[in-house]
Amino acid sequence: MPKSYDWIVVGAGFTGAALAYEMAKKGYKVLLLEQNIQPDNATRYSYGGLAFWAGSTVLTRQLCDEGRARYGILSSELDADIEFRELDLLLTIDTENEPETIFQLYKHFAKPPKLLSIQEACALEPLLNQHAISGALTVKHGHIQPEKTAQAYIQAFLRLAGEMEICQVLQVNSFETSTTVQTSTDIYQSANIAICAGGISRDLLKQSGISIPVYFTHAEILETPPTDIKLNTLVMPAVLQRFQLEIDAIKNDEIWSHNNENEIENMVNNTILDTGAVQFLDGRLRLGQISQILTNTNAEINSEKSEKWLRSHLSQILPKLANLSANWHHCLVAFSQDSLPLIGAIPGQKNIHIFSGFSNPLVFVPPLAQRFAHFILGNDDEIIHQLSPSRFSR
Ligand SMILES: Cc1cc2nc3c(=O)[nH]c(=O)nc-3n(C[C@H](O)[C@H](O)[C@H](O)COP(=O)(O)OP(=O)(O)OC[C@H]3O[C@@H](n4cnc5c(N)ncnc54)[C@H](O)[C@@H]3O)c2cc1C
Repeated sequence: MPKSYDWIVVGAGFTGAALAYEMAKKGYKVLLLEQNIQPDNATRYSYGGLAFWAGSTVLTRQLCDEGRARYGILSSELDADIEFRELDLLLTIDTENEPETIFQLYKHFAKPPKLLSIQEACALEPLLNQHAISGALTVKHGHIQPEKTAQAYIQAFLRLAGEMEICQVLQVNSFETSTTVQTSTDIYQSANIAICAGGISRDLLKQSGISIPVYFTHAEILETPPTDIKLNTLVMPAVLQRFQLEIDAIKNDEIWSHNNENEIENMVNNTILDTGAVQFLDGRLRLGQISQILTNTNAEINSEKSEKWLRSHLSQILPKLANLSANWHHCLVAFSQDSLPLIGAIPGQKNIHIFSGFSNPLVFVPPLAQRFAHFILGNDDEIIHQLSPSRFSR
């Protein structure tokens, strides 16, 4: 007889780790399934930035406040150092843009960033090239070490008697009162399944005959070993091209049924580079980020070409970082049509749930994992209702 669970959570990146922990904390018997022993996912290559200041609607402002409160106690609750701290975010404005115009774009956030002159920006971040910017914005940003945080959740989950297996999930099936999960080695039974497979969620569900409006970009970064160079701030462009790429990529849903990547390139400008950098407490730098729309999760990426492109842009904005020895990495990042996650039962699939599609999830995942675990116990939750995947099938 196969073992049976209350919940099987697929994917042990940030979302799956947090959700499995919160479910186990509520007393559920949970199995967490992850395909890789060593994390090689979006969480592993993330900048780890927490934009508590960036709530722009009633919903996101509330979640930002809840996120801040949750992070304040997370290290102690999980009994592990997640390197939660505050640092200066520096949003660079390129020479083609008027600083005041860009500043206005940020006015609707709960805590709008401050506008800096070129001199003030370079005083805050001496590694910046003053000739590459017309100004910058700054605001206090939260920061964590994302893979340590995911690991902290997993370890706390295991201490609560949660179970974890390393195997690839091939298919999920829903029946009247239960579900099955077929992996490369076994078949597991569970009352419910939660899909937390990040950028792979769409493909995994497709293999099970389920269509869901979660999309993904191919992201690329460079990561240096610990270095003595000191980056004071988390640097990102004030105008992130990634968001426009995501909007363009879903305007035409037809793209997502194409398998020919050349055709996609003709339908949408499919590759962008947002030049940014962050340094972790151990001295490692993550430099990036290229985002590309390729609807094949296994598409070939030309790492040499990407690395050259990234280094040439870094040489303009942060010249001292452009030639550091670094390794190229690639991962998939999920997104949705409205930048909000999809949380809850997949329409037509009573027992299969999704917890994915977060664009910039790190602020939102801890409070939403907690809320979802509370919700499935039978407690009503207006926020979980608002994030239901059924909002796209009305
Ligand atoms: C360069 C970069 C910078 C970023 N910066 C920020 C930032 O500053 N702030 C922010 O909020 N967000 C940021 N993000 C986004 C954020 O880090 C990720 O979206 C988030 O960590 C994703 O977590 P996840 O659990 O959804 O996905 P992932 O971390 O990708 O985890 C999904 C897991 O599911 C597993 N899986 C998939 N399919 C299967 C299967 N069939 N069987 C078993 N396991 C499976 C995968 O192996 C993987 O471990 C950044 C992302 C990148 C790439």
